[in-house]
Amino acid sequence: MKIIAIGRNYVDHAKELKNPVPTEPVVFLMPETALIRKNQAFFYPSFSNDVHFEVELVVKISRLGKNIAVKFAHRYYEEIGIGIDFTARDVQAELKKKGLPWEKAKAFDGAAPLGNFVNKNQFSNVNNIDFSLSKNNEIVQQGNSKDMIFSIDTIIAYVSQYFTLKIGDLIFTGTPSGVGPVAIGDNLSAKIGEAELLKVLVK
Ligand code: ZN
Repeated sequence: MKIIAIGRNYVDHAKELKNPVPTEPVVFLMPETALIRKNQAFFYPSFSNDVHFEVELVVKISRLGKNIAVKFAHRYYEEIGIGIDFTARDVQAELKKKGLPWEKAKAFDGAAPLGNFVNKNQFSNVNNIDFSLSKNNEIVQQGNSKDMIFSIDTIIAYVSQYFTLKIGDLIFTGTPSGVGPVAIGDNLSAKIGEAELLKVLVK
């Protein structure tokens, strides 16, 4: 399986990092080794001094597809979950300065804790899902899928032009504003609505 991630998908987050608001999705990939499952701890990597949390809705692909039309994209996923796209912001700043790819900053081992999934039928509208991240019991990020620049269906259609989507592939759909640093000892908790679906201890 592969992990596809979308950058700068919320206007307020693009602005907080002083990035232009994109006119088409910003796409990058992560290997399977980036995942952390079952609420296991995240180990702060030795190559960074500025790891940031980014909470994101995650879509799990349930059907093989290529060149999927937007109007049929909803048929290609059944479940939505939540994850964190840990980013070594210092490493990313160096790479961005040089115009190099982001993988070392975003796709390293453990960069993508993944929580539990919810059947999409539990949402009255997938384009209106509230989610949040707390750090040490204080809410640090709050988002709603209605504020995505590119909707879930648009993302699926877009990325499937380039990458065949396979069952079990994951799409991290981008983070709202409020990203910030983590430190060893921090406890993160991510929710969709009121349901806590992911917990991460930083070690
Ligand atoms: Zn992200």
